[in-house]
Amino acid sequence: MVRSTCPYCGVGCQINLHIKDEVIYRVSAPFEAAPNYGMLCVKGRFGTDYTTHPARLRSPLIRVNTNEPRSAKAVWREASWDEALDLVADRLAGIVREHGGDSIATFACAKATNEENYLLQKLTRAVLGTNNVDHCSRLCHAGSVAGLQLAIGSSAMSNSIAEMEHLETFIVTGSNTTETHPVISNFLKRAVRQNGAKLVVIDPRKVEMTDFATLWLRQRSGTDVAVWQAMAHVVVKEGLYNKAFIEARTEGFSDYVESLESSTPEWAEEVSGVPAEDIRRAARMYATSEAAAVYWGMGISQSTHGTDNTLAITNLALLCGQVGRPGTGLNPLRGQNNVQGCSDSGGLPNVYTAYQRVDDDDIRASFAREWARPSLPPSPGLTVTELVDGALSGAIKAFYVMGEDPLTSEPNLAHARHALEELEFIVCQDIFMNSTLELADVILPSCSFAEKDGTFTNSDRWVQRVRRAIQPGGQSRPDWVIISDLALRLEDRLGLTPSAGWEYHHPGDIWEEMRRVTPDFRGITYDRIDREGGVHWPCPDIDHPGTPYLFSDDFPRGRGKFWTLEYGTESEQPDEEYPSSYRPVGCCTIGMAAR
Ligand code: SF4
Repeated sequence: MVRSTCPYCGVGCQINLHIKDEVIYRVSAPFEAAPNYGMLCVKGRFGTDYTTHPARLRSPLIRVNTNEPRSAKAVWREASWDEALDLVADRLAGIVREHGGDSIATFACAKATNEENYLLQKLTRAVLGTNNVDHCSRLCHAGSVAGLQLAIGSSAMSNSIAEMEHLETFIVTGSNTTETHPVISNFLKRAVRQNGAKLVVIDPRKVEMTDFATLWLRQRSGTDVAVWQAMAHVVVKEGLYNKAFIEARTEGFSDYVESLESSTPEWAEEVSGVPAEDIRRAARMYATSEAAAVYWGMGISQSTHGTDNTLAITNLALLCGQVGRPGTGLNPLRGQNNVQGCSDSGGLPNVYTAYQRVDDDDIRASFAREWARPSLPPSPGLTVTELVDGALSGAIKAFYVMGEDPLTSEPNLAHARHALEELEFIVCQDIFMNSTLELADVILPSCSFAEKDGTFTNSDRWVQRVRRAIQPGGQSRPDWVIISDLALRLEDRLGLTPSAGWEYHHPGDIWEEMRRVTPDFRGITYDRIDREGGVHWPCPDIDHPGTPYLFSDDFPRGRGKFWTLEYGTESEQPDEEYPSSYRPVGCCTIGMAAR
């Protein structure tokens, strides 16, 4: 039996993999281990047989019909690892020499380990010489990330899963939690059933959580901002705001208050359909509670005004001082198992590990020292959507895609397909065939979570171990092995001085390097995770207990900023094709591919 972490969602449940003859024949949940304490949903319990599925990619593949347009049906032949990696290194090095590193883009992976994502961004920055690395969190929680960054300077979920069971008051909005984060929903339901917590659901759909709600505000689709603004209006008019918190920790209060003047509950009722009196009750419940938290999902962020939705929620939390204490906070529920860790590990175009900015000279110098490079690219790279546009315009010549499927996750698939068809070279590294792989020049078969070691970071920044339980299928290799091998071949072809690292014997070596360059990870070691089950980052030293909830003293941007918002829903109204009961199926709802 091998203890590991579920590969499906951001809850990060601990699982015991029972193995016989290199097959996972059973999955159980340890009762003593956080965050799930014996609970698993159907995905974690019964969904790991894909690891030995006959459709797994088992050997490197090279496209044969390269004289035909990329849109033609691909013809493949099997290749050895040496042949495939040499081809990839030759082609990428050629593109760097001819067009520069900024003509290449890499896609990090929200389902691969932290160590693998760290290595991919290191390859991108230290070897290819560009910051063009991004991943799917750009698409799913984009509105949450942008809004939280603007208001407080951090987009991490602020409070821990362990606090959920003891909540006093909480709001769930834009999240069908029982479907998308089943174990979290159990904790939230327990808070209501066992502790009498008050739950407000703000959602156009009758999701299961409404059965547990004290109050359900059923707004018309796309009218979230009006409801949240009206709640803030009530808090101000009834003097329920937290004066001490506002004075000590925020800015922009007076302009914000002025902007709320016309956002009356009666106006919001007209706009959203939610009775004005229910808006008042929800506002009073949230503002007068000793501790109140907000949890949200894709219903808030996957919207043309997702950033405004997030800012409206954050404004209310700042107004009431409901952040920086246990049982409070701003909590975007993460979708894929390691979407938090992929961002934390530097899989973003503007930051290295733990959000250290690439345009900060001192930080850049410290990474250059560790990677034995005279310099690193100083300007932020392009985002996923800009990379797709860049492929179409010709600015981007090659994609290196690790475990992502832009031709499923991009918002405009016809546009993305057209763009990818224009690329000179596409490399994909994955465990199964997918839409993007069908366009690739080279396919590199990688390992599933059960075939490798490493760490995942769950939704509440809890870093946990992934442990090898079965042998890799076919010739597949862990992503970290593939990237390290490719990096050495690329350095050779580009005439670069070999950078420090790349000859790792185990993902633990990579984590040690991540600790050296990341003050927030310094107190987290594999030994400590083995002993304690996991550690919440930030954890600056080995004696630090970790940080289950954030912002107790300040925000990363200093003071929390109130943003004045102008309500407008013209851009996204329900219509016949997408009525208000339409339920999106995306990477973070039920369509999550495992890895
Ligand atoms: Fe896995 Fe998420 Fe289900 Fe837990 S709740 S078993 S992490 S899919």
